Amino acid sequence: MATDTKAVMEKIVALCKRRGFIFQSSEIYGGIAGFWDYGPLGTELKRNIKDAWWNDMVQNPPIGPRGKEFQMVGVDCSIIMNPKVWEASGHVGGFSDPMVDCKECKARFRADQFSRLVIRQINSVPKTIDDLRSHLEDVEPKADILAEDHFSDPQEYTKQICSALRIKKPTFEALTISGYAAGGSGSLGILTSDKNEQFSYRQVPVLLDSTSKYRCPRCNGELTEPRQFNLMFQTYVGALQDASCIAYLRPETAQGIFANFKNVMDSSRVRIPFGIAQIGKSFRNEINPRNYTFRSREFEQMEIEFFCTPEEHCTDDDVTPMEWYEFWRDVRIKWYESLNIKSDKLRPRQQEGDELAHYSKACTDIEYLFPFSDETQELEGVAHRGCYDLSQHGKHAKGKEDGFSIYDDERKAKYVPHVIEPSAGADRFTLATICEAYTVDESRPSPEFMRFHPRLAPIKAAVFPLVAKDGMPEIAEPIFREIKKLYPAQFDSKQSIGKRYARMDEAGTPYCFTIDGQTKEDNTITVRDRDTGEQTRISKESVGNFLREKLSI
Ligand code: ATP
Repeated sequence: MATDTKAVMEKIVALCKRRGFIFQSSEIYGGIAGFWDYGPLGTELKRNIKDAWWNDMVQNPPIGPRGKEFQMVGVDCSIIMNPKVWEASGHVGGFSDPMVDCKECKARFRADQFSRLVIRQINSVPKTIDDLRSHLEDVEPKADILAEDHFSDPQEYTKQICSALRIKKPTFEALTISGYAAGGSGSLGILTSDKNEQFSYRQVPVLLDSTSKYRCPRCNGELTEPRQFNLMFQTYVGALQDASCIAYLRPETAQGIFANFKNVMDSSRVRIPFGIAQIGKSFRNEINPRNYTFRSREFEQMEIEFFCTPEEHCTDDDVTPMEWYEFWRDVRIKWYESLNIKSDKLRPRQQEGDELAHYSKACTDIEYLFPFSDETQELEGVAHRGCYDLSQHGKHAKGKEDGFSIYDDERKAKYVPHVIEPSAGADRFTLATICEAYTVDESRPSPEFMRFHPRLAPIKAAVFPLVAKDGMPEIAEPIFREIKKLYPAQFDSKQSIGKRYARMDEAGTPYCFTIDGQTKEDNTITVRDRDTGEQTRISKESVGNFLREKLSI
């Protein structure tokens, strides 16, 4: 990572703490990894983000392809659900990472953290994994890299492999790293940017050695072989603490929607195609929480499950699932752009081949270039999930193969609806909003300011009497009260005017109104624009209209 981007991230983190956007959870006790608290400004910012999403996706959704209107409704489900939900969804069996434990001190680490990469050059492209294994036995290692903590820094890891192989441009596209050995034995393969030809990039696969050669970094004890570790937080429901009472904190909000699919259909007169949305906390016991709030153990999701008619039952007039998928992908990208996320930092990345879940027909990760990395990182996934989820719950809950099928009167057909899932992280977008807004202009008296979109800005306006005397506070107070009825606003009469502007710049407040000596003479006050620093005068009676006009973007 370039040092200047790292320095930018450090400045952003410092500003967030100094101004009360984000604090470390339980900081007074030394914190707890992967958990964060929002301070007064951060709370307002995140609320504005969730409100904007709910307003634009649920209460006032966009019009569908070919002018088709559709309904969106919301649910607010419990965090702890019947554990059978997570068996049906596949989370109990499959939501896991390979881990090793120290036999002495019991510390737990991600298995791939201790591996050495042994890289061998081979001459022909193997067709199967067994082919690859036998090829590898015949060739001498080309390079041997000790990649201590490469998984916590994939860019660094990619660079190491590329430099060992003398690949000039170390991009993540050139080297897509993907596990190929079953059972998490710690082997990795390099796939090429041409996804159809596995291992064809310079025909160089890499192999990770088993962890058996490595010792615990804390106590030098012996390590176990890698074992799968489930990312769901487990708890007990009721007084007993035995296996029959195990329950999980939800790792995603989506399953609450699927579990209530029938309830919603029966109670709210929605008809296919329609969507159910939910905003709420999710929990994942991430092995390596990192990059500030980006990968946390407790976070909030904003998810939509959009139910539509499977292609085989669509009439000519119907929008097909693939069209809905493309529609939602584009809607979601435009939504980020409409809230000031610049398109050159936003990258939709379509998943291909192995990356796609087996039931998924298409998936796009909407990624953003955060300052903590040279690579774009996922903000949201938009997935075409076919009929997988409703079928799974149908089988597990009702014991029926046809899942939660519905009878469609209009098309005279019975089917399990297909699902398009735009799944976004409220905390990740809050972090992206903070990073995008952070601006430094050395020509200003206080160079750092937050260029939030007015809809998201935690405080919309501030009112300052230039000095706390000469009748100025008496004029300022009623103006402040009028603004406060309309928008979140602050009043400040302390310190120099420059310091007050600087504080509001750091909070990202779009407009500051100052009452000065001239106000008494001609009834005008100054308006200072956060982004340009320019000051103009308007009549004090027009403040409400001025803000309404400027903030109604
Ligand atoms: P990643 O690959 O980054 O772990 P994911 O593909 O597992 O993410 P999903 O299961 O698709 O993520 O969850 C949907 C969204 O929830 C993500 O796009 C992200 O915005 C958010 N999210 C997932 N895991 C976390 C986390 N640990 N911390 C913060 N947000 C998260």
